[in-house]
Amino acid sequence: MSMFDDIPVDVGVIYEGERIRKDNMQVELGGPKQATKFELVRAKKMDEVEDGKVIVVGPDLKDLPEGGNVPFGIYIEVAGKDIEEDLEGVTERRIHEYLNFIEGIMHLNQRYDIWIRVSKKSFQKGLKSFVPVGKVLARLYKSELPFVEKIQITFITDPVKVKEMYDQAIQIYDARDAKARGMKDEEVDTFYGCTLCQSFAPTHMCVITPQRYSNCGSISWFDGRASAQVDPKGPVFAINKGELLDAEKGEFSGINESIKQKTLGSVDKVWMYTGFGYPHTSCGCFEAMAFYIPEVEGYGIVDRGFKGVTVNGLPFSTLADSGAGGRQVDGFHGIAIEYMRSPKFLQADGGWDRVVWMPQSVKDRVKEFMPKEAVETVATEKDAKTVDELKTFLTQKNHPVVKRWKTEATEEETTTEGEEALETTAFPVSTATVSTGGFKIIFKNAKIHAEKVIIKREKPKR
Ligand code: SF4
Repeated sequence: MSMFDDIPVDVGVIYEGERIRKDNMQVELGGPKQATKFELVRAKKMDEVEDGKVIVVGPDLKDLPEGGNVPFGIYIEVAGKDIEEDLEGVTERRIHEYLNFIEGIMHLNQRYDIWIRVSKKSFQKGLKSFVPVGKVLARLYKSELPFVEKIQITFITDPVKVKEMYDQAIQIYDARDAKARGMKDEEVDTFYGCTLCQSFAPTHMCVITPQRYSNCGSISWFDGRASAQVDPKGPVFAINKGELLDAEKGEFSGINESIKQKTLGSVDKVWMYTGFGYPHTSCGCFEAMAFYIPEVEGYGIVDRGFKGVTVNGLPFSTLADSGAGGRQVDGFHGIAIEYMRSPKFLQADGGWDRVVWMPQSVKDRVKEFMPKEAVETVATEKDAKTVDELKTFLTQKNHPVVKRWKTEATEEETTTEGEEALETTAFPVSTATVSTGGFKIIFKNAKIHAEKVIIKREKPKR
């Protein structure tokens, strides 16, 4: 029995987190197989929106091939006396939440990267058109967001129309992102927090500052401000940044207090501009993952759209799982692409001087914001497919991380006070843990053979 009499399936928070596997899906909308997909909300004047209207452009759900995959767009126009352009980003982000409330609909990601599945079970229950989906969205928007007075929703499956609107949407996202560029975290007293992803990652809270974009890449500082003003009790709220405790790492007393309160004490400290120590938590919606590659002492970056394996042999999904879930994991750091355009990008770790690898498509997107030298010295999948190839590339290009290797090598060649050199053929260990390339290897009752073992006191290392 549905929450709404005229909707054939149930609707409620219990369906959030519902996973629809390939075998159970009626149809897939957007997703990794489609180059063009988008969701977009635009603020309109009152007389431009016909409240409650749902339009379908292209084949409706019942006419899409069973088990198939199609380009897809969701275009929502909203109006209200308090609505302004700055509310578009946060309103758009709610599509994710509200669609996931519908039984048999799974929505992942955001903006240009949406991935939706409709289950066979819900289709058989009668969910054969986008019209009831639109009706549910419209009702949820109007009951949850008081500033939405009128709403009109268009679903697009016609590939030509999807492509046309996708191109426009990309320009609109870019204009939104560009708005906060040039502003500094030092210039504002208030940051914004978002806990929308707590339904998936209960200990996650995004802290949105002018120079550190939300992980999902959908909510800027301006969006946060607009949302907190019209809906202060909602999931996006103001954070008084408080006292600056560490300028380089980006630690603020107000952020620490806020995250402690919002995560019920699970997280009590955040350093905003580093992937080590107390990094910003990573939910699961981040646009990209910065992953530390210990062999070269630098970061790789991989975005959700990158198909195949990264330079350390792992795909995005594995790397994403290593840091997701609202955790603070050293060296696995969920980020927005826009954060890569910020001067505060991984500032405490050395910024661009520590980035060693990224997909060419990401490089193309952020190139004009990278230091000139980094454009040359950061490898892509075209330059290096393995860590050994990466080492060679970085050495040839004299990447700044190479100096670190030289220093370390020199330190290791001589044993000094506090260090001990052992020469042995084999020594037993009862239990030892080694972390490398994102894996933890645990040796139990093993014998390790080595020509020489140097034990040295570790300096704190980033
Ligand atoms: S990633 Fe962050 S800003 Fe985006 S919806 Fe989730 S919690 Fe909010």
